[in-house]
Amino acid sequence: MPPKWWSNGIRFECQGSGKCCVSRGTTGYVYLTLVDRQRLAKFFGLSTREFTRRYCAKTHGQFHLVDTEGPCQFLEGTRCSVYDGRPTQCRTWPFWPENMSPKAWNRDVAGFCPGVGKGRLWTALEIQGELDRG
Ligand code: SF4
Repeated sequence: MPPKWWSNGIRFECQGSGKCCVSRGTTGYVYLTLVDRQRLAKFFGLSTREFTRRYCAKTHGQFHLVDTEGPCQFLEGTRCSVYDGRPTQCRTWPFWPENMSPKAWNRDVAGFCPGVGKGRLWTALEIQGELDRG
């Protein structure tokens, strides 16, 4: 059973602000699974090895996009320049396990992401699906 506060769903629609693509301290890494690196490598027409060499770093055994302590290297204005190849972490925002307590949602997500409360209603089943993908 999902926690009660989102069992009736959550309204969310990306407003294209680009805010979730700007590094916010230690939470700013965009982590990459092997499938993410393969998808992005294909997007650039590179081998996975070459994509990883050019664009990735590894921290505590986990690959992530090289962090420039500012906007993601693929953010152009407020637009993702690799949208079709973007990583799973970007696809599933804001439905991340660490965001789904009422406190984290209200403090870390709703206070900063203009998509919260807008657009269509995501059902609890859909939200759980996003959480399971992350
Ligand atoms: S890959 Fe695209 S969606 Fe993900 S953080 Fe970078 S600019 Fe944003």
